[in-house]
Amino acid sequence: MARSKPTAPAPVAPPSGLRAAEAADIAMLVEELDAMLSRLRLGAIREQLDGLLEEAAKRQLNLREALAWLCAAEVASKEQRRLSMAMTIARFPFVRTLEGFEFEAQPSIDPGKIRDLATCRWVANGDNVVLLGPPGVGKTHLEVALGREAVARGYTVQFTTAMELLGSLVKGQQQGTLEVRLAQYSKPKLLIVDELGYLPLEPQAGHLFFQLISRRYEQGSVLISSNRPVEEWDEVFGDQVVAAAILDRLMHHSHVVTIRGDSYRLREKRRSGLFRPQAGGSCSSGIGGVPPSTPAKQAS
Ligand code: ADP
Ligand code: MG
Repeated sequence: MARSKPTAPAPVAPPSGLRAAEAADIAMLVEELDAMLSRLRLGAIREQLDGLLEEAAKRQLNLREALAWLCAAEVASKEQRRLSMAMTIARFPFVRTLEGFEFEAQPSIDPGKIRDLATCRWVANGDNVVLLGPPGVGKTHLEVALGREAVARGYTVQFTTAMELLGSLVKGQQQGTLEVRLAQYSKPKLLIVDELGYLPLEPQAGHLFFQLISRRYEQGSVLISSNRPVEEWDEVFGDQVVAAAILDRLMHHSHVVTIRGDSYRLREKRRSGLFRPQAGGSCSSGIGGVPPSTPAKQAS
């Protein structure tokens, strides 16, 4: 079959709105600009239009450059909105950042390890992070700071405490909504569970936590903090077998950061003279120490 000669592409017809616009008075279109920008959900351009156009004129941008300039403003504004929404959804208890963390105050932490974790490669891989240490040494601070890094990189994050999480699962079991709650806590790419081990758990909490950890295993990351060494988690969960099963999954692909040292809060008080150090120079928290090594690899 003879091929037909290629013909020049037909001129693309402008969208009907534009054709109508051709006939219309440009001034009318300009009057509708606000409404069109709203319809296209270009809120930042709409709100800052005068300033942006003035700036574009000042910089003597051509039409294409000006359009790129306007689009950049819209993209930046949308990204800002996404970030602030994701931060709200994450439900962090307060704002803490890595820049605000004084590494000199906690020499047992390797800043390089934390900066490496801040790249969130572990979140991309579905690995877990376990933060161990006595109260006041910055576990929650680091959880929030790392959680914010994950949000900034586009991951979904949810912050909760062990009490809140396990209380919700126990309630779910009692009310027949366990499945919904497990699904809810399985959804975020990173689930942060703060303060495991501070308060006694319900007898069935260990089983329920195991179910959640199994669901998330190799799918989504868990960042968990505890004041109790992992060797004591059977006491925390009140069941050796369940604790071993939880640790098996949690620690398989995990980075463990063990913090030793004084409470930052007490250190601040001591600095201001409100707190007197104990004999020996340390203002110990009185909580048992964390073992020097754990079964999982240390964060690198
Ligand atoms: P933990 O969770 O280990 O009990 P937190 O993270 O709640 O301790 O820390 C207690 C307070 O001290 C928080 O306000 C936290 O921001 C602050 N803090 C702890 N360690 C540091 C640090 N190294 N640099 C700056 N602030 C710190
Ligand atoms: Mg804490």
